[in-house]
Amino acid sequence: MLSIVVEQPHRMAVRERADPSPAAGEVRVRVRLAGICGSDLHIFHGKNPFATYPRVIGHEFAGHIDAVGAGVSADRIGERVVVDPVIRCGQCHACRIGRHNVCQRLQVIGVHRDGGFSQFACVPADNAYAVPAGMPTASAAVIETFAVAANATHRTGVLPTDVALIYGAGPVGLNLLQVLKGVYGVRTFITDHVDERLALARGCGAEEDEVINTAREPLARALARRGVAGGPTLIFDAVCHPAILEEAVALAAPAGRIGVLGFSATPSALPQQALTSKELTLYASRLNCAMFPTVIDWITRGRVDPGRIVTHQIPFRDVADAFALSESQPRACCKVLLDLSEDA
Ligand SMILES: [Zn+2]
Ligand SMILES: [Zn+2]
Repeated sequence: MLSIVVEQPHRMAVRERADPSPAAGEVRVRVRLAGICGSDLHIFHGKNPFATYPRVIGHEFAGHIDAVGAGVSADRIGERVVVDPVIRCGQCHACRIGRHNVCQRLQVIGVHRDGGFSQFACVPADNAYAVPAGMPTASAAVIETFAVAANATHRTGVLPTDVALIYGAGPVGLNLLQVLKGVYGVRTFITDHVDERLALARGCGAEEDEVINTAREPLARALARRGVAGGPTLIFDAVCHPAILEEAVALAAPAGRIGVLGFSATPSALPQQALTSKELTLYASRLNCAMFPTVIDWITRGRVDPGRIVTHQIPFRDVADAFALSESQPRACCKVLLDLSEDA
């Protein structure tokens, strides 16, 4: 089989490797489409603290099961599946209280172990979810990205009276927008400093007055002009710059909640006074905790539309071009999928 291997930071190649055999409890997935995520770029650049090398990256992927290991029903062979990359130990405190996405011995497919930028990937059978007939494989391939958004809104909760604010109209912010508008129907503002991104946000359901270009208009003033008097009640930081969290704490309405998804190691200066006087709640959200069935249901019912974020499909042999496109063209592309369907 052919796999995209990051051999060490900044060095990536398409390599011929032995076809893997599924271990007990695993299925082997013949990968069809795999999404490029910001964290794949971080691993490539040596900036992911959890990755080890060499590594086959890719944690957003769909295909079909072509072999099963001991203990897995052969009936699953041929099943079209999407893979949840989060593998738990099942024993630790987090696992025992149903928070296995922060398992003490967490393994993420494509980070801690080989992932989906490969013609074949072996994964625990429980991590391979059946894709409903009629759902395009390109939609299935980005379910993980919606699961990240679903996890964040599950953590914060969404109230019918919420006025939401999303920082950043990248893939994570746009998915949060689709969830907040399409699933919960709450008023949701979204910021960016790139107009093309904000055009994508309109395509993802934002009203004309809900998009704010913060390069042109200070955020506090923009919200006030739009009648958000007391500040947003629910804020998501999908930019993940330390200064954003500081601003979010200052802007949030009393009793507001803030969803934090970033991995910056730089501290934010958060005055206790602002947190306590408004009794704000910060919810960190990492990966997803068993959100795939929820997202599959949302897509099936048309509450969210993966087609709105997939802008490119590129043959996997052109992965270097695909990475360059993802990184250097934030105006032209949102989610880039690698097509691994070429014969092994
Ligand atoms: Zn991702
Ligand atoms: Zn665990």
